Amino acid sequence: MGRLQKILIPFLGLVLAFWFYSARDTFKPEMLRGKRVIVTGASTGIGEQMAYHLARMGSHLLLTARTEPRLQNVVQRCLELGAASAHFISGTMEDTAFAQHVVREAQTSLGGLDMLILNHVGASYFGFFDGDVEHVRKLLEINFLSYVAMATAALPMLRESQGSIVVVSSMAGKVGFPFTVPYSATKFALDGFFSSLRQEFTIQSINVSITLCILGFIDTERAVRAAAEVLQERPAPRDECALEILKGAALRRRELYYRYSSTRLPLLLRDCAAELLDYLVRSRYRLPAPPGA
Ligand code: NDP
Repeated sequence: MGRLQKILIPFLGLVLAFWFYSARDTFKPEMLRGKRVIVTGASTGIGEQMAYHLARMGSHLLLTARTEPRLQNVVQRCLELGAASAHFISGTMEDTAFAQHVVREAQTSLGGLDMLILNHVGASYFGFFDGDVEHVRKLLEINFLSYVAMATAALPMLRESQGSIVVVSSMAGKVGFPFTVPYSATKFALDGFFSSLRQEFTIQSINVSITLCILGFIDTERAVRAAAEVLQERPAPRDECALEILKGAALRRRELYYRYSSTRLPLLLRDCAAELLDYLVRSRYRLPAPPGA
């Protein structure tokens, strides 16, 4: 009984503390009204949906991706939905100078920045690692270095506004995933950089939040085309995913998991049963039978 009390009381305390902490702050769309926001990778997928949610909430938007006609359409739709303002710049994040240029444009056209949403992702392949080191380097430039360059360039504006950096990552950036080795590597790199940077912000009392978003399988065209045939699970809706990211960002959460059941819960196994987690990850795929089976 005594031992039970020793375990039960602290456990209940933790549950109550968690409940109190999570109930304390609730998201309201007004939190993002009038905010100056950059969304990268905003021409399609989750980025496009984030732009529409922000537009409905009345934010000022600066959108970027490579495909100009798609960005034009997204900007037009954002204005129809109620964005305080909406602009775009097209270019490739392979080029660090372009990444920095987008941030400077926020200074010019928005007069500052409250939220930097880093979401774009370069094309990669789905299959066993093919040994192409050059592809890994290129993907690191798009998926990682440009994020670093933009966050660095935006920091003075974000310090002034006490703003937020939002980093869109993946389950593949928390646990090893087969068939997406280069992609997974770039997402792990994001966690290392931005989680360490968050520590330094705390030490230096820099009031800029960093929200790392750990996403499961989402129903964007690219992801469904690449993985729907081989993944056993159903993808989650991209518009809901986009809204959850924005809520987490507005509430200045350190990490955001969507969907919780397919990301946060399995990750609880990482430290105590890593091999079981690896097995669960592999079991998500319809794998071909081994030769001779
Ligand atoms: P999409 O492929 O739908 O969108 C990617 C965006 O990035 C597009 O706007 C694309 O526009 C842009 N982009 C691609 N290459 C470049 C480049 N070289 N320079 C600049 N922009 C580029 O991706 P999702 O919406 O599916 O993914 C969004 C984020 O969510 C990514 O960070 C991804 O890793 C993450 N995620 C997604 C999951 C999913 O299942 N969908 C799962 C886990 C994480 P354009 O081609 O016009 O340049």
